[in-house]
Amino acid sequence: MPAIHLPDAFDLNMGAHSGIYVPFSTAMPQKAVLDIDHCIFCGKCEKACPADAIDFIQTAHELDIEAGAIVLATGFEIMPRDAKKQYGAGELLNVVDALQVERLLAPTGPYGHVLRPSDGMQPDSIAYVQCAGSRDISLGVPYCSRVCCMYAVKQAMLLAGALPLADITIYYMICAPLARDTSSSSRMRGRWALNLCAAR
Ligand code: SF4
Ligand code: SF4
Repeated sequence: MPAIHLPDAFDLNMGAHSGIYVPFSTAMPQKAVLDIDHCIFCGKCEKACPADAIDFIQTAHELDIEAGAIVLATGFEIMPRDAKKQYGAGELLNVVDALQVERLLAPTGPYGHVLRPSDGMQPDSIAYVQCAGSRDISLGVPYCSRVCCMYAVKQAMLLAGALPLADITIYYMICAPLARDTSSSSRMRGRWALNLCAAR
């Protein structure tokens, strides 16, 4: 039977997983799950599994757990990638958001290296467009998120390590951390050869 390849949500749909898969590399516990939404119930995995682990009638159930403390992670949603249509996100495969870059940089990422989603080649040139979702009254978000400037710089430094020949430019509207500390921007231009360009 040919293997099926389904978009992998953890890799923000840049990678793929089969019908039975471990949701992500650091999942606790490291247990495989069956994608019941795409299973055609052919039963071949059930016949092939020597551990008799396939259970098609398993259902979700609640557990009561006693714990001394809990960590509540509320999560977040990023601005829809096609909110600023002029940047081409949603249409051009190589226009990615910061979370996708995070997965591209991860050793457990979808390609194992930083590659262009469009053709699997290494990028020669990378541009960050800052404030693409904040400080923008046309999107109803007039405020600064206060995180993405330094987050972009962190990613750009990691990209410079992964792709030493790539040309990396950060186009920013205003970058308060860099404005406060000019030695940081000098280091970025010098040590990591990042280009910083005031734009927009
Ligand atoms: S029953 Fe068939 S389609 Fe479903 S997970 Fe098993 S092998 Fe895949
Ligand atoms: S100024 Fe920097 S931190 Fe603030 S929204 Fe723009 S990119 Fe994000």
